[in-house]
Amino acid sequence: MPPISASEVGLRVLETFVSLQGEGRAAGYPAFFVRLSGCNLACRWCDTPQSRDPHGGQPLTVARILRLWQASGLPEVLITGGEPLLQEGVYALMETLLAAGAQVYLETNGSLPLRLVPPEVIKIMDLKTPSSGMSAYMDYGNLRYLSRKDQVKFVIADEEDYRWARRQVLSLGLLHFTEVLFSPAWGRMAPERLARLILEDRLPVRLQLQLHKLLKLP
Ligand code: SF4
Repeated sequence: MPPISASEVGLRVLETFVSLQGEGRAAGYPAFFVRLSGCNLACRWCDTPQSRDPHGGQPLTVARILRLWQASGLPEVLITGGEPLLQEGVYALMETLLAAGAQVYLETNGSLPLRLVPPEVIKIMDLKTPSSGMSAYMDYGNLRYLSRKDQVKFVIADEEDYRWARRQVLSLGLLHFTEVLFSPAWGRMAPERLARLILEDRLPVRLQLQLHKLLKLP
């Protein structure tokens, strides 16, 4: 049997949609979103629980996703989840989109290896804080695959999370090689309080508000 081409590879996709990027350096720009189904973690404050079901959504080929992106007319694609790196087909998807000229972003939960992610992809990697209950599952070896165009994101639900995140930023030297985002957990940490903590400590990280949530966008 001949090998299947990249465009025939299938993925389980919860949804595709157009919205403003809510997070990271590209926040505020419109993008085509691909939300893949399934996640290997169980964060206490998961804001997309519907994406954790590996059987949710529908199967789509890479070729079909490519056509949907092309029809959107937007240069940027954000691949998110769930945890996108759980599906092997995500690599064919990233390569195909890059080859077609897309600017590709990947949101990943920090627990799976980034080794095979194409270097052109802009990675937004979580380091899960203690309140999530998932910080023990982080793969710190991934830090070697991050550069200045990528971002490490901490979602902060309380002051204990903040102090933990600050320690990680400083002890891992994150600011020397990548960008760091501190994002208040929706409904749990007042953004004003997080802003004050960052300013009091003169910590050169970027406060990130979840724009799509503030604007009630998908
Ligand atoms: S990694 Fe993301 S999708 Fe998975 S449980 Fe945590 S918040 Fe939810």
